[in-house]
Amino acid sequence: RARERAATATGPGRTADGVPISLLANIGGPGDVAAAVAAGAEGVGLFRTEFLYLGCTTPPTLETQVDAYRAVLDGFPGRRVVARTLDAGADKPLPFLPLGSEPNPALGVRGLRAFRGEYRELLDTQLAALAKAAEGAAAELWVMAPMIADENDAAWFAEQARAHGLRMVGAMIEVPSAALRAGPLLSQVDFVSLGTNDLTQYTLAADRMMGSLGALQSPWHPAVLRLIELTGTAGRSCGKPVGVCGEAAADPRLAPVLVGLGVTSLSMAPSAIPEVRAALAEHTLRQCRELARAALR
Ligand code: PEP
Ligand code: MG
Repeated sequence: RARERAATATGPGRTADGVPISLLANIGGPGDVAAAVAAGAEGVGLFRTEFLYLGCTTPPTLETQVDAYRAVLDGFPGRRVVARTLDAGADKPLPFLPLGSEPNPALGVRGLRAFRGEYRELLDTQLAALAKAAEGAAAELWVMAPMIADENDAAWFAEQARAHGLRMVGAMIEVPSAALRAGPLLSQVDFVSLGTNDLTQYTLAADRMMGSLGALQSPWHPAVLRLIELTGTAGRSCGKPVGVCGEAAADPRLAPVLVGLGVTSLSMAPSAIPEVRAALAEHTLRQCRELARAALR
């Protein structure tokens, strides 16, 4: 009953002893803003920008992108909006980004990797559009890149983003090597966000598209939790935000565990926010840490 009562509560996310944990929304475009605001999202923790590119024969123009980014930023005055740069790969072919066929698209040229060579201009235009949209916007724009493998990727991306004047630059942690190098990686960026969908896939070497491997695709696996803990500990020691934006953040039983591992914000489908808010309100930070220790065991 307490959970039911709390699930109807509103307001910012916090533990029972008042530690703030931002509850953010995962969105796929301006059309998702209203539902996120209605659910009480404290901002956007993952704005997947793929919708602008998929199904197009030519890359979206700078102006098209600026309009779409502004429409999202306008929905969250005084809040943060974390936009993720294009996460394309051989499994989502784009006519203007011919990556060729690969034996293992999940392990191939996807995410940031696609833009470190020939197609750098696409990233450049996206970063320019994001920077332009952020000018004078009421929301605070944070920008992060997918499929960062290590601190070298992070440093390269941060250099590109900062060259456009973007101030809050981050990296997704969704490759185990990035979690293992969280300390050096965090020295290159302002924040990180754990993509637990891919992090689980890569840690257990279990293709997330294969339902038959479902038993291996659990973010509750202690190996995945250990990587989250490494990232959380690195974030705490340098005082930088560590979010989770994969499906794990939407599980009300896992959310307190993630907080106990050092996570400072949770981003999820807007419909999941009330239950996660309620679950956090039932646990002190100390209890979250105890749950995390038990889960790691
Ligand atoms: C993830 O991998 O957890 C993530 C949030 O990104 P996507 O699901 O878009 O790959
Ligand atoms: Mg991912």
